[in-house]
Amino acid sequence: MKAGVTARDILAAAPGPQRRAIAKAITLLESTRADHRARGDELLTELLPHTGRSFRLGISGVPGVGKSTFIESLGLYLIEQGHRVAVLTIDPSSSVSGGSILGDKTRMERLSVHEKAYIRPSPSAGTLGGVADKTREAMLVCEAAGYDIVIVETVGVGQSETAVAGMTDMFVLLQLPNAGDDLQAIKKGVMELADLVAINKSDLDPDAAMRAQAQITSALRLLTQQGRERGPWQPQVLQLSALTGDGVDRFWQAVSRYRELQGAAGAIEARRKQQSRAWMWERIESGLRHDFRQHPQVKARLGHLTAEVEHGSVPASTAARQLLALWRAHP
Ligand code: GDP
Repeated sequence: MKAGVTARDILAAAPGPQRRAIAKAITLLESTRADHRARGDELLTELLPHTGRSFRLGISGVPGVGKSTFIESLGLYLIEQGHRVAVLTIDPSSSVSGGSILGDKTRMERLSVHEKAYIRPSPSAGTLGGVADKTREAMLVCEAAGYDIVIVETVGVGQSETAVAGMTDMFVLLQLPNAGDDLQAIKKGVMELADLVAINKSDLDPDAAMRAQAQITSALRLLTQQGRERGPWQPQVLQLSALTGDGVDRFWQAVSRYRELQGAAGAIEARRKQQSRAWMWERIESGLRHDFRQHPQVKARLGHLTAEVEHGSVPASTAARQLLALWRAHP
C-alpha cells in the first residue's frame, strides 16, 4: 500500500482527489493483510457517522438483460437531477472461477468518466460472503464521500441476489420481455426479493413486454401474499427501454414513491437495522468457523472424523459434538 488515506481525504469536497482517496480506501478495505485490516477498521469507524443518508438501490438481472445500459441511463438521469451516483458491483463468477462476467468489457463509458459518478468493479477474490462484505464497506465509503445514490449491481446467477437485496434499501430485478426467464427467477426464489421488476428492451417487442408485465404482476401478487411483512409498498412491474431511455423517469418516480411510503412507515430503517444485525452475525459466524478450523485439537481430529462420517461409522451429529467439545475444552 502506498501513501495512507485518511477520513479527511474522503470527506474532502474536491472531486479529483476525493475519487482517488475513495479508490485507495476501498483497496485498503479489500486487503487481507492484518495491518491493512486494522487501518481499514479505524477508517470505517471514523467514516461511519457520515454514512446512512444515501439511498441504496440493488439491481440484478441475467447477463445481457441490459444492466449496464440501464445503470448508465439512470445514472446520467440522476446526475442531471442533482444527485451524485456511486455504482458498485458484485460479480459472483469472480469468487468461483477467478474470471468475471461483468468486469472485462468496458461498461458505462459515459457514466464512468462523469465527475459526479464513481464506479467500482467487483472485488476479484474470495467467497461470495467475502465479496459482499467488502462491497458493504465500499458502500459506506461512497456514502461518507457524499454519493447520495448508491447502486449495487449483480448478475442474476447464484446467491448474489440475496446478498445484494440484503445490503440495499430497495431491490430491483431487470427482466427480458419473454416468459422463460421470468419462470427461472420465480424458481430460484429471486422474484420475491424484488421490490420492483422492470421489463427492459420493451422497444424490441412491445406486445411481449405487455404480456410479461401482466404475468409478472400476478406472480408477484401471489408471492407477496405468502411473503413476509415488508411495509406498505406493494411490488410493482414496469416496462422500460434502457437503450432509448424510455421509462427511466417513470422508474425513478416509482423508486421515489417507494422511498416516501416505506420511509414514512419506518420500513427502510427497520430493514437497515435487520441488515446490520445479519451482517454482524454473518461476520461472527465466519470468524468462529475460521477459528474452529485453525484450532490445533480440532485440526488433529478433523480428518479422521470426517472420514468416519463419510464412511458411515460415526453419525455426523456425534462427530460434530466431539469436535465442538474439543474446541470448548481447549479455548
Ligand atoms: P448486461 O450484461 O445486463 O450489463 O447488459 P448490457 O447493458 O451490456 O446490454 C446487453 C445488450 O443489450 C447490449 O448490446 C445493449 O445495447 C442491449 N440493450 C440494453 N438495453 C436495451 C434496450 O432497452 N433495448 C434494446 N433494443 N437493446 C438493449
